[in-house]
Amino acid sequence: MTDSKSIKIVYKVKDMQALSNNVKGEGKTISFVPTMGALHEGHLSLMRAAKQKGDFIVVSIFVNPTQFGPNEDFEKYTRDLEGDLKKIELIGIDAVFFPDVNEIYPQGFETYVEVEQLQKPLCGQHRPGHFKGVATVVLKLFNIVKPDIAVFGEKDYQQLQIIKKMVSDLHLEVEIVGLPIIREEDGLALSSRNAYLSDEERKRALGLSKSLREIKKSFDEGINEISELVPLGRSILDEAKIEEIDYLEIRDGQTLEQKKLAKKGDIVAVAARLQNARLIDNTKL
Ligand code: AMP
Repeated sequence: MTDSKSIKIVYKVKDMQALSNNVKGEGKTISFVPTMGALHEGHLSLMRAAKQKGDFIVVSIFVNPTQFGPNEDFEKYTRDLEGDLKKIELIGIDAVFFPDVNEIYPQGFETYVEVEQLQKPLCGQHRPGHFKGVATVVLKLFNIVKPDIAVFGEKDYQQLQIIKKMVSDLHLEVEIVGLPIIREEDGLALSSRNAYLSDEERKRALGLSKSLREIKKSFDEGINEISELVPLGRSILDEAKIEEIDYLEIRDGQTLEQKKLAKKGDIVAVAARLQNARLIDNTKL
């Protein structure tokens, strides 16, 4: 364990569990924000909210190998603990859990969690095994950090639904809080992966949020046939020359089931690959 200003940096599972046990022994509540680092305002908004909700705030920084596919960006994912700590220091976090991969997945590790139905569509279809890795690491982190409250972004909408379901199905005693997407002024959702974009790709990437806005606008004007709404969004993606679209879909906001007619509370979700980055975005109707 080391200290950066007033933040404890914890590297070992046993040390984090001991720290959490001590904090709870003092009658304090723990609120927790799991991240993969490369922190931006989206992450910081979750931390500020976590601070309002609990007595002791823990942030984890762990690039989780089991949620990356073999040809994905696990190796090139930005790792910048020093830069991350500088951003966190201003918020007033109590502890950062920063484990090594071997600490979380020691040799011989073979137990995984799957949320069978919710993990299937959308990103699950295009990133096989991704949500198995996410659910597994989040359950592990919950068992290590022992939070009363855990805060997630709606940016990863399917992930949030999967975690809520896992918590409910496995009777975990943690309250899950989901918070809105933080965007750049021009609408681009903040993402650690935006750093991969060239200037030209950054401009084209605006097509994602624009397509969601177009669909929402048309829905607000009274169109509810999904077969009509989706092509409106598609045409925006085409205009922006976004060619590798994994999906643009409208689904039930909780079950993520497919439907014919859109209603309030449904989710419009998009994922597309630009040359250097796979980006996701969504909006609620
Ligand atoms: P990540 O580091 O990408 O695993 O994200 C950690 C947490 O930050 C997840 O709960 C994300 O949903 C959330 N997050 C990422 N980007 C944003 C954003 N633009 N606005 C709000 N939350 C976000």
